[in-house]
Amino acid sequence: MEFKIETHLHTYEGSACASATGHEQALARKADGYDAIIVTDHFYRGNCRVDRNQSWEGFVRDFTAGYRNAKKTGDEIGLKVFFGWEECFGGSEMLVYGLDEEFLYAHPEMIKWSAREHYEQIHAAGGFVVQPHPYRERDYIEGITLYPYYCDACEVINTSNRPIENVRAKAYAEDFGLLMTGGSDIHHAKSLGGGMIFEHELNSIFDFIEGVKSGRGKIIGL
Ligand SMILES: [Zn+2]
Ligand SMILES: [Zn+2]
Repeated sequence: MEFKIETHLHTYEGSACASATGHEQALARKADGYDAIIVTDHFYRGNCRVDRNQSWEGFVRDFTAGYRNAKKTGDEIGLKVFFGWEECFGGSEMLVYGLDEEFLYAHPEMIKWSAREHYEQIHAAGGFVVQPHPYRERDYIEGITLYPYYCDACEVINTSNRPIENVRAKAYAEDFGLLMTGGSDIHHAKSLGGGMIFEHELNSIFDFIEGVKSGRGKIIGL
């Protein structure tokens, strides 16, 4: 079998730069032929749409709305929807997989964690950290910062990147012996076609993590 998953996806509800709601993303990605998506909205220090001037509980509730809306639609149309997020450390970002909303509610201090503390805390709680698009060059990125020791894997194909930025990312991952993932970084309903393909069904975010660790996933575009 072929099981296609989008590992890097944004919703309007959570990300200021996204135009498609969780509901719209679920419909569009199902139409693209995906079996699963992981919602990874920009978290507190990234390009988050959610009002930061409210209680932590309110922030987390609003931040996770895109995921909940995608999940509701996904359950109705037969698309698996998993939860994650993307935090920002200066010019670099980190995707987090394997932890849930309860972790966010319980850790309001996480917005002050350095990249190192972030990695250690996420790891201690059973999560998995992936550095996406490490070599992306954009006017909003002040400088490239690499954190090879504070992530578990590197996203080596990002469909929203320029080709050379992915070539560099793959060489970097190989140099440091990092596990590899691929994703679209999709912000809108229009198809981008990235992600990963597994030969077995993924029933949870933990199945995805195990699949990456065991090297069983094929990265689309690699
Ligand atoms: Zn964005
Ligand atoms: Zn992203």
